[in-house]
Amino acid sequence: MNVLMLGIGQCGNRILDAVNREAFGGSSRLSKYYSRQKFPSRVETLAINTAVNDLKELRFTAAKDRLHVPNLHGVGANRGIGKQGFWENREMIMEEIERRGDFDIAFVMTSASGGTGSSFTPLVVHELRERYKKITVIPVMVLPFREEGSIYLQNAAFSMRDIMEVESDGIILVDNQYLKRLSGDIKTAYDKINEMVAERLLFLIESLDSEMLSVTDLGDFKTVMKGGLGMGTLGFYESDKKTASLTSAIESSLKPSGLLYPADVYEDAARAMIIIQGSRDSLDVDEITKSVEKLSTKIGQVFKGIVIKKGRPKILSVFTLGQVPDLEMLYAQAAQAIQDEKSRKTRAKKQLDDAFAYIEDLEEVY
Ligand code: GDP
Repeated sequence: MNVLMLGIGQCGNRILDAVNREAFGGSSRLSKYYSRQKFPSRVETLAINTAVNDLKELRFTAAKDRLHVPNLHGVGANRGIGKQGFWENREMIMEEIERRGDFDIAFVMTSASGGTGSSFTPLVVHELRERYKKITVIPVMVLPFREEGSIYLQNAAFSMRDIMEVESDGIILVDNQYLKRLSGDIKTAYDKINEMVAERLLFLIESLDSEMLSVTDLGDFKTVMKGGLGMGTLGFYESDKKTASLTSAIESSLKPSGLLYPADVYEDAARAMIIIQGSRDSLDVDEITKSVEKLSTKIGQVFKGIVIKKGRPKILSVFTLGQVPDLEMLYAQAAQAIQDEKSRKTRAKKQLDDAFAYIEDLEEVY
C-alpha cells in the first residue's frame, strides 16, 4: 500500500512530526516494525506551511519533507489570503507531492481553525482527487479549543463546510476542546493529542496492510468512512493486566476516554470497524466475533479485523457518525461570535461617526 501523509499548517505539521517520531525516528516499537520487510507500506510524509518558522520547529521530519510555500507575511489566520496563497503556488505544491509517486490513500492533517491549513486543505483534497483517480483521501480535521477566539471559531465553521463540499472519502475529527482534559498546560496537551492521533493512524495503516486473520481492507475502511454524515473519529484501547476480557477491551475502545472526538458510539455511530491486534494466544476469535455481532445489533454495520502480533491485545475502533451534536454547537457558537464581532464593529464605527459629527460644520482655525 502506498500511503501519503500531509500535514498542513502548524497543527498539521506537528501531528506529522509526531507520526514521523512514532514511525521512523523515535525509539518506539513501531519504528522497528517499519524497518521490517513484513510491512509493505510505503509511507511518504510532507509538511506544508507558509510560515517557515513552524517548519523549522519540526524535529523528526526530514528537511526534504518540509515544503515552504512563500507568502510574504504568513496568512494571519485569514482564510481568504490562505486560499489565494494556495492558488498562486498550486503547481509547485502539487509537483512536490506528485514527485513522490502514486498513492492508494492520503491522510491530510490540519487544524480547522488556523489560516494556512484550514484554507489549503480543502483545495489540496480537491487537487488530489483530480490528479490521482483511484486515491482514497481522508482529511483529519482538528477542531479548536472553543475559547480560542472568534476568528478561530469562524474559520472552523467555514473550513468544515469547505471540506464537506470537496469530495473526500470521509473525515476524521479530532477535538482539542474534548481532549484538553488530558493535560493541564497547552503544550503538553498538544503533544499528547498529536501523539494519540499519530498512534491511531499508524495502527490503522499497519493493520490495513497486514495479513489479517479476519480480513478488513481498504475497501471496508472506505465503506465505513462513507457511512452516516461522512465524518467520524477513532478510538483506541491497549489492554493491560487489569483488563478483564477481550470483550471488555473491545468495548473500551469505544468509550469516551479513548475517542478523539466526543460521541456516544452506541447512539451516534453509523458504521464501524474494529481492528484487534495481539498475540495468537491472547485472541479468541469466537469471543471477538460474538462481541462484534453484539455491536452490530446497535450500530448496524461493523467490520472486524484481526492482526496477529506480539503483545497484549490493542484495539482500534474507526467509526462514522449519523449525528454530531457537538459540531452543531460549534456552529452555533461560531455564528454568535460572528454576530458579536459584527455588532462590535458597527458600534465602534457609529462611535467614530458620532465623534466626527462634532466637527462636521467646523473648519480648522489657526
Ligand atoms: P495555520 O498554521 O495557519 O494552519 O494555523 P494553526 O495550525 O496554528 O491553527 C490554529 C489552531 O490549531 C488552534 O485551534 C490551535 O489550538 C491548534 N493547534 C496548533 N498547534 C497544535 C498542535 O500541535 N496540536 C493540536 N492538537 N492543535 C494545535
